[in-house]
Parts: sequence; C-alpha cells; structure tokens
Amino acid sequence: MFVVMQAQATEDQVQVVCRKIESLGLRPHISAGTERFGIAVIGETRDHEPALFEDLPGVQEVLRISKPYKLVSREVKAENTVIHFPGSDATIGGPELAIVAGPCAVESAEQAFAIAERVANLGVRFFRGGAFKPRTSPYSFQGLGLEGLRILAEVRKRFGLVIVTEAINEASLDLVEQYADIIQIGARNMQNFSLLKRAGQARKPVLVKRGQSATLEEYLLAAEYVMNEGNHQVILCERGVRTFSDHTRNTLDLSIVPAIQRESHLPILVDPSHGTGRRNKVIPLSRAAVAVGCDGLMVEVHGNPEEARSDGAQSIYPEQLEELLAQVRPMAEVLDRTLPTGSPVAALPRAVGERPGPLR
Ligand code: PEP
Ligand code: MN
Repeated sequence: MFVVMQAQATEDQVQVVCRKIESLGLRPHISAGTERFGIAVIGETRDHEPALFEDLPGVQEVLRISKPYKLVSREVKAENTVIHFPGSDATIGGPELAIVAGPCAVESAEQAFAIAERVANLGVRFFRGGAFKPRTSPYSFQGLGLEGLRILAEVRKRFGLVIVTEAINEASLDLVEQYADIIQIGARNMQNFSLLKRAGQARKPVLVKRGQSATLEEYLLAAEYVMNEGNHQVILCERGVRTFSDHTRNTLDLSIVPAIQRESHLPILVDPSHGTGRRNKVIPLSRAAVAVGCDGLMVEVHGNPEEARSDGAQSIYPEQLEELLAQVRPMAEVLDRTLPTGSPVAALPRAVGERPGPLR
C-alpha cells in the first residue's frame, strides 16, 4: 500500500500515519520524490484495508501497490536512483555511464596494478577484480582472499579507482565491506537470502548480479531483500542467462534493461563478458547494451588473458577497452549519456596469434 499525502501535509500528520502503520506490525517508508509525496507501507498488507488510512488528516489517497516488490518499485519511488561515491566524481545511474573494468580475479599485485593503470588512464572510474571467486569446480583458482582485498585497496589508493569486488558468503562480506566501495553479490548467490540480508545491513552500495535463470520478478525481489534491510544503494547487473544457445557461454538478455527500467528506479549495468564468454563478442554486445539504455558496463580486462587464472577467454585486452569506449561513445550521445574521458595509452605487447580488433 502507498499512502499519498497532500502536498501541504504537516510533519505531525506524516508521523500519525507512520505510527498507525507501525501499530499494525508494518513498516513505514517515507518517499519524498518530486512527483509524489507519501508513505509506502512495507510488509504483508494483504489483510489490511486502505480505508484504515484514508480518513487520517493530511492523507490524499491510498493506493494498493500491485507488485510483490515495493522498495525497488517505481510505484514507491518514481525518480531514478543515482549512487554517489564519497571522495569521487563517480556516479551510477546519472547521466555518465558507469564503466567497471578489471580482471575476473585479482591474481597478484603486479597484475592488478598493471591493469588498473591502463583502466585509469582511459578515464574509467570503477575497477573490478575478484578476491573471493565462486568457481564451478573446487579445483579452480578460488581467489587470493584477504590478500586480494589488500591489493584492491592499494589500487584505490594509487589510481583513485572505485573498487567493486564480490562477497561469496557472510564471512567474506564482513571483509569486503571493509575494503571495497561496492559489494558485489554474484549470479550464483542471487537467491542466497541470508547473504542478501547481510548485504542490506552493510553501509556500502551493493551490486546484485542477475541469477543464471532468474525471472525479472525474482531478480527484483532479490534487490528488495537488500533494500528491506535499510540499504537503498542497490545496483543491478544483467550478465546473461542459460538458454539452449551454445555459441556463447550465456545469452545476454538485453531486453531486461528496459523491462527493469519500467518497473524499478534502480540503475542497471550490463556485463557482456560473462554474458557472452567470448572476447570477440564483448565489444559488439557493449555497443548493443549502451544502445538499449543501460546505466553502464562491467567488463573483464586482462593484460595477458592466455595466462589468466579465470575467465581468460572472455577477458579483453586493455587496448580493446579503449576501442570499446570509442565505439560506445556515439551510442551514448544518441541517448544523451556521457562517457568518462581519459588520455590515450600506448598499446601493450600481446600474444602471437591474437589480434584484438573491434568487429570480429
Ligand atoms: C564475476 O563478476 O566475476 C562473476 C563471477 O560474475 P557472475 O556472478 O555474473 O558469474
Ligand atoms: Mn569472471
């Protein structure tokens, strides 16, 4: 339910409505958007009638929220959410597209610093890199753990990048919360409800990746779990879903971007690296993602992908990131979005047989 208040309603009248909501065992959430000022009633409201609030002073009308998700919904907050980062000009959800780039996993300080330097020189503001890796096989590289987080903190210090890294369980979230700027919840954990609740108690933005087989409703309810704990700084990220197609690792479901934007005020990124699993498809799908109207891209970049300890086949070379930015820029302009700008970097030597190029 959403209690719409009259524009001239007093603070006392708002408080009376909030107390009434609490007396029913429900939670008020004041929504002070420019379009509509009111109070969302959070909790199981099915058994309560709108009439309970309609006659309270200052109330204009009471609307039923038709969707199972509430805090993530545009019915509760019409304006887009824009996330800011203290001490940085970076934003997610504003006019500038957020580009998150870096290796799948932090492998060493040297590896991370070399990629970070290239990324930062391009003007990119966000650096990704897993310290805790959720791997399909227990024999695969599991990440450097705390050492990886320390390297990421050093990346922030040296290059001024905003750090995004994944927490795979509650114990790692305790650490990630201390070291990172954005806590990533991976696709495999999208319905790990205890982890989502823990992320909701953190005071850092949370990036929730879409589960490999999650519907839009399941996905938004995962974000609702985080917001319901009081953390409203949530970022979504489409990263491909399982289909019968086997020419790519996953099928990047770009149509979820406008579908999410219709339902929710939360920003949504697109990850064409996990979405395709193939280096040669990252730039084309990045163009498509920007054209469809996403709020940014998350891309895996590695200086020497043949030697990468995870996801080398989908990691682009640093010079391809430069190419990617050049190619998506016109798409962004058409949609009145901007991209960060940086100074060009010199090409890195690359392995024989690899010819990074834009359109293959
Ligand atoms: C990642 O971003 O490195 C990752 C593991 O992604 P996903 O959870 O989408 O598979
Ligand atoms: Mn990866």
